[in-house]
Amino acid sequence: MAHRVALGAVLCDGPASPALADAVLIDTHCHLAANDFAADRAAVVAAAQAVGVATLVVPALSADGFAAVRDCCRRYPGCIPAYGIHPLCVGDAREEDLAELRRWLEREADSAQAPVAVGEIGLDFLVGPTDVERQQHFFLEQLRIARDAGLPVLLHTRRAIDQVLAGLRRIGVNGGIAHAFNGSRQQADEFLRIGCKLGYGGTLSQARASRIRQLAATLPAEAIVLESDAPDMPPAWLAGGRNTPAELPRILAILAELRATAPIDLAATTSANARQVLPRLRLAG
Ligand code: ZN
Repeated sequence: MAHRVALGAVLCDGPASPALADAVLIDTHCHLAANDFAADRAAVVAAAQAVGVATLVVPALSADGFAAVRDCCRRYPGCIPAYGIHPLCVGDAREEDLAELRRWLEREADSAQAPVAVGEIGLDFLVGPTDVERQQHFFLEQLRIARDAGLPVLLHTRRAIDQVLAGLRRIGVNGGIAHAFNGSRQQADEFLRIGCKLGYGGTLSQARASRIRQLAATLPAEAIVLESDAPDMPPAWLAGGRNTPAELPRILAILAELRATAPIDLAATTSANARQVLPRLRLAG
């Protein structure tokens, strides 16, 4: 269902929500199953849909959380799951969790909440080199699982963009999204070349994120998808508070201003980009 955004909504800080008419936004990365939303998950989804964020892609973080992600997506229309083991969770993961992921994807493939991607997977080298090998093992195995399932991937790439790109080239997957992209133009072009999009969210509102803002302003329009990463990555006006998918229209407004384009056009482009890179979103409506 499409929703109309209130005209002239003005906030004390940050941009007003743009008038999007009947455009719908897709939040390509929202941790709706997180405990942060335990008390008010229904209200969070309703608030997002009320401002035109009609679809939320909900990635898992660990095998222990697969059922919670599935149940969350069963309960709230417009929420679509992705299953995977996050690089910061591989320390607690078991080898058999990889087999469990493969089984889970097969079992859910024909359900009403069929997964749209394998994620969140990737590498995070901010935490130091202690478990680089373990991260690489789980990442490459999950790329193989995604490739075999014909699914795209939701990628975490912190301090490890070149290593993530190397894994993608080595295994060869069906595209994906480099979530919270914070790399160079050259790295961006390489993701695009191998069929990936780049995810942008609340960081665009941070004045200190000048490189991210500069790149988001100049990339080809077909490169970009929107994401909240809620409850993380809050935009500047939340002052470090809990992020929610309802912030997406204001993030869109910032991106539209950076790119000197109309929010309504950018809404349509970014949603089309999301449907292209996550083809099962089209089936989900
Ligand atoms: Zn995430």
